[in-house]
Formats: sequence, C-alpha cells, structure tokens
Amino acid sequence: MNKTQRDEIEAALKQAEAFVKEVKGSVGLPIVPDAKTGAATWYDQRELRLKYTVSVEKTRRFFEGLADGRIMATRCRRCGELYFPPQDFCSRCGSEDVEWIELSDVGQLLTFTVINVKPMSFSHYQDYTVGIARMPEGINVLAWVDGDPKKLRVGMKVKLKVVRRQPENYLIYEFEPVE
Ligand SMILES: [Zn+2]
Repeated sequence: MNKTQRDEIEAALKQAEAFVKEVKGSVGLPIVPDAKTGAATWYDQRELRLKYTVSVEKTRRFFEGLADGRIMATRCRRCGELYFPPQDFCSRCGSEDVEWIELSDVGQLLTFTVINVKPMSFSHYQDYTVGIARMPEGINVLAWVDGDPKKLRVGMKVKLKVVRRQPENYLIYEFEPVE
C-alpha cells in the first residue's frame, strides 16, 4: 500500500467519523463534506434490488438444449479443451473456433455438500445439496443434487438431467443419484 492509498483510506475513515457525528448532532441529516472538495455530500447506505439483462446470444444453444432436455458444452476445435458451462472462446489457446457437444447424462460424484446457510438470493430455497461430478468427457460439472443427502456417497453414479426449478419455474440442470 502506498502513501496515496493510505491517505485515501484515512480520508474515508475521517469522512465516516464525520458522518456519525453529523447524524448524532442536532442537524439530523447524513450530510458530510466530500473528502476532496469539501462540498456537501449526502451519505447513505442501503441494499439495492437489481434487475439486469445479460446477452446470452453467443451461448443460446445451451439454453435451446435445456429446452430440448439436453445439456450442452463447448469444445475448442483447435486444442480440444472442453467448457462447461459453455463459453464461446477458448481461454486456453485463445481460439474462437468452438463446437457444441452434448454431455453424457451419467457422471461420477466426486464430492457434495449440503447448503443450509444460503446466499441472500438463494434464501427462499429449502436446504439443498451441491455436488461435483466427473463426466465421461473428462470435465467436472457442478450442480444441485436431488434427493436425500444421507443416501449420497462419493463415487456413486449420478444422472445429469434437466429440471424445472421452483418457484421461478425455469429450466436448470441437476444431478439425481442412480440406484
Ligand atoms: Zn483451445
């Protein structure tokens, strides 16, 4: 950390102290001087709900595959590297020449864990199990694992399948133990 960074952090801390003082004071407004210019600045902190759009044009075949009950990966035509989730370029050799392949539906469970402390955006789900399985194509897939986690064991076969996740009702892939 250089001197400028230290100064900036110090200024930010001073600003935060000033904020606390200001709010506690008689004015009752979270207005603090800007650290650089001294201009009156409204200071606020709150959680935001975001709506966003992301282009999936280059990987649309993956989503079309889900609708068909197929799980698609990409493979670099130049060096053979596999990608799942699919990507439209090869980060190994830099090529943009990739082809689509359908993954086999049965893999071998390498590891799994039950998630009971969920990230905010997953807090509406019941506890769920996340696992990683090795697919015959030689790639690892991370996905939720359906069913009773007590019946899972490392090394067992799991089937990769397309399901509808509720309450969103969107298509996603999941593992299901193969008896
Ligand atoms: Zn490549």
